[in-house]
Amino acid sequence: MDGNTDVHCPAAWPEELPPAGAEGCPDCGLIRHGTRMVWGEGNPNAPIMVVLDNPGSREDREGRPFVCGTRKTLQKAAQLAGLGQEDLYVTYVLKRQPKKAYEKVVARSICMKHLLDQIESKSPQFIFCLGNVAVQSFFEQGEAEVKRLRKAWHAPRGIPTAVSYHPLAINRRPNLWPSFLEDWQFHCGVPGGTGFAA
Ligand code: SF4
Repeated sequence: MDGNTDVHCPAAWPEELPPAGAEGCPDCGLIRHGTRMVWGEGNPNAPIMVVLDNPGSREDREGRPFVCGTRKTLQKAAQLAGLGQEDLYVTYVLKRQPKKAYEKVVARSICMKHLLDQIESKSPQFIFCLGNVAVQSFFEQGEAEVKRLRKAWHAPRGIPTAVSYHPLAINRRPNLWPSFLEDWQFHCGVPGGTGFAA
């Protein structure tokens, strides 16, 4: 990956458990897909809340912890922007990984209440929404696209929000890596960032 050759040690960031009452939530039906709930990971009190579409696996088939490609690429960009685990809390529009067909828009809309509760209780400095799915859900705009919204600040839910590509998109299309890193540095990094400076 161009520009992605520096020393980097991806790690399984500590997971924040769901609050009482949310664990075992059956509201959108994804509980029937058999995947476990992942509420969030990183620093629960971090100034930056990263929002992805849904969690990837944190364990392999044998139940051993591993760091998926999404997390590796996210952590790599964060590190190059001068950020670490203490600066970031990563969470999701859906708290469970879908494994089969489901009503996508409906499920995302139902689960949004958990994300909004997280934002209210944690009061992050800003939201960093990664990928079209997360952006469309969080912005409540079905046609929203990262490529049109990046490199600017927005406030779709009354909180400063920036967007970039999904880390998985970077893994599939390495030519997007410079733009992805540029977004992290523009919004989060030092020097020259327009937002949080670690
Ligand atoms: S994905 Fe969200 S709404 Fe659906 S069951 Fe899980 S926590 Fe509840």
